[in-house]
Amino acid sequence: MAFVRISRIVASLGPAALLACATVRPPAAKDVPLAAQVEAPGLLFQLLYTSADAPEVARIRDGLLSAGPRLLRWGSFRQGVWIRVFPDHQSLEEAVDRRGYPWLRAWAFGDQILLQSPRSWSAAGSAAVSAAGSAVITAELDELLAHELTHALMYQLLEPDDAPLSPEAPMEEPPLWFREGMASVTAGQGHRRLSGDDLSRWLAAHPGADLLHPSAELYRTEKEAVYGAAHRAFDLLVATSGDQSVRDVLRGVRSGACFEDSFKAATGHELSEFEETTLRTHFDAAAARSSGAGGP
Ligand SMILES: [Zn+2]
Repeated sequence: MAFVRISRIVASLGPAALLACATVRPPAAKDVPLAAQVEAPGLLFQLLYTSADAPEVARIRDGLLSAGPRLLRWGSFRQGVWIRVFPDHQSLEEAVDRRGYPWLRAWAFGDQILLQSPRSWSAAGSAAVSAAGSAVITAELDELLAHELTHALMYQLLEPDDAPLSPEAPMEEPPLWFREGMASVTAGQGHRRLSGDDLSRWLAAHPGADLLHPSAELYRTEKEAVYGAAHRAFDLLVATSGDQSVRDVLRGVRSGACFEDSFKAATGHELSEFEETTLRTHFDAAAARSSGAGGP
């Protein structure tokens, strides 16, 4: 999941704010944030975590580093990214000010990722997780970090050079299918997503539902359909217009164009036309090409 609008506000919750809080009301020893830096060429991450999550640092670090090569597909980070590890699901929901999203594991901004500790992903808690279960969680963590880092990178690539974002001047966000589809495709999460046929059946059973621009409630309650549609739509965009068109869309917005105009300039197609064709062809690239949605 991603959300850019209050990025700069949450950024203020970084180490400086934590230190400031500590001068007012010293936290309990277990809450003292620890920090670790993770670096590789073109990548700089700062992990913030509490002592209970110290055993998680190694696999989080590995997941961050393994995601790096996938992200290069779209461009390079322009700044480092904070990774704030929350001990449980409730504390993550509180941090993102959302309630009732039991499936949520992380939240991304341009400059930071809020992550529910993988230690708490299993309902029974880490003590009951077998070695096989732990391996599954590690694989899911790798995917999740690649997904969230794609969001962070996308926001960094969208941010204009001459007009930094602020809560008063938020960025125009790409449609949800583009944001989530880009992250899901980059993280290789297609194996988790509904197929085009599954989605078509879902759409037939839910007339009027807008999967490509879901309401907050649809997003909360129909996560599988929403993420499936996003993944398949973005996959279709890449199949018909290529990676370069995605990079061009992002560059266009960064240069000041609105997303819709940048999309048309980069792909040769109206955004609404692409979305309509995507649904009409049941997310099928070959059918979309023959109906004229393909790019040069
Ligand atoms: Zn996401």
